[in-house]
Amino acid sequence: MSIDYAERLKQLPPYLFEEIDRAKQKAAGEGRPIIDLGVGDPDRPTPDFIIKKLHEASLDPATHTYALNRGLSALREEMARWYGSRFNVSLDPDTEVLPLLGSKEGIAHIPLAFIDPGDEVLVPDPGYPPYKSGAIFAGAGIHFMPLLEKNGFLPDLDAIDENVARKCRLMHLNYPNNPTGAVCDKAFYEKAVSFAKKHDIIVCSDAAYTEISFDGFTPPSFLEVKGAKDVGIEFHSLSKTFNMTGWRVGMALGNADILNGLARVKSNIDSGIFTAVQMASIEALKHAGEIKSEICGLYAERRDTLVKGLNKAGWKVQRPLATFYVWAPVFGGYDSFSLAKAMLEKADIIVTPGSGFGKSGEGYMRMALTVEPDKLEEAASRIKKVFFS
Ligand SMILES: *Cc1c(COP(=O)(O)O)cnc(C)c1O
Repeated sequence: MSIDYAERLKQLPPYLFEEIDRAKQKAAGEGRPIIDLGVGDPDRPTPDFIIKKLHEASLDPATHTYALNRGLSALREEMARWYGSRFNVSLDPDTEVLPLLGSKEGIAHIPLAFIDPGDEVLVPDPGYPPYKSGAIFAGAGIHFMPLLEKNGFLPDLDAIDENVARKCRLMHLNYPNNPTGAVCDKAFYEKAVSFAKKHDIIVCSDAAYTEISFDGFTPPSFLEVKGAKDVGIEFHSLSKTFNMTGWRVGMALGNADILNGLARVKSNIDSGIFTAVQMASIEALKHAGEIKSEICGLYAERRDTLVKGLNKAGWKVQRPLATFYVWAPVFGGYDSFSLAKAMLEKADIIVTPGSGFGKSGEGYMRMALTVEPDKLEEAASRIKKVFFS
């Protein structure tokens, strides 16, 4: 029998990183001194006290059964409390907070609750891939919102045609932004709320990086602005904030009816987060403040090291105010893909080509600050030697 894949899988973009992945495997196999700035995954371990709590909780057999689908009420309460103390947003833990198996899961599933044939989704370009694949899985049309440097990498909502906006049911926003490292202010969120109200569009704000910021800048939450809860929800995650990417704990917060739609989809697909992991997550959130300052200090030092090194080498790059990414323009007549290949082949450095995040990512490279400063210095000096001397 020949195995044929469904149209929705055929519609997914080709895996652009495959060639780079293969080259990476090969280089590693040859024992070359690879510096990997490609993955957006923290290199530091989860803090000890969180692991201890997981261990302790996992010894209790009561944690071994199926979890409640909406999560422990103590977890929802702690998530609501954290949003209150961090963003001054008040949320009802029973109806306005929904724990997720990582925020990627919620982001990918939300269109299933709200998309009917003919509906479209507004997706930032460049952007985190699940915005697009989630829309494809739900059978939605996609309208890309280009994030351009001249607009501070914010989508130009005024430029979206009335006829397009009429068909859109859902809009993804993501600040602080992956991959550009851009940030937004509350005025932008206010604009998004009025745009959403005017066109009946559900706003999905992805706030995964609000806890990684520098130079005294404190990223706002979408839910802080007036009317946000009428039109949208926010996705947040313990992944980047607490070095917990492997644990799979995220949350959706905001409009109760929207969350209810997502919860109904989820109750048919998954069966909640391992209870011991939920208990460890409560512990993590209780110490969010301390962990945050430690992690921000770590990435600030790395950012300064890489940006200073690259600028000295002759590659003019901007210092991001948030996230652990440096978004740098390509140089030397390369496109982003060929520069990524050249950096691997000639300098043993892995970076992500901007075009992998969408058409408007062409012309840029993403470098993740997920290695120690000495490695970042070494990367800058290799780049100088290979490309700028
Ligand atoms: C890492 C990341 C997330 C978090 O994903 P989890 O599924 O919670 O681990 C969400 N959005 C963006 C843009 C990210 O880069």
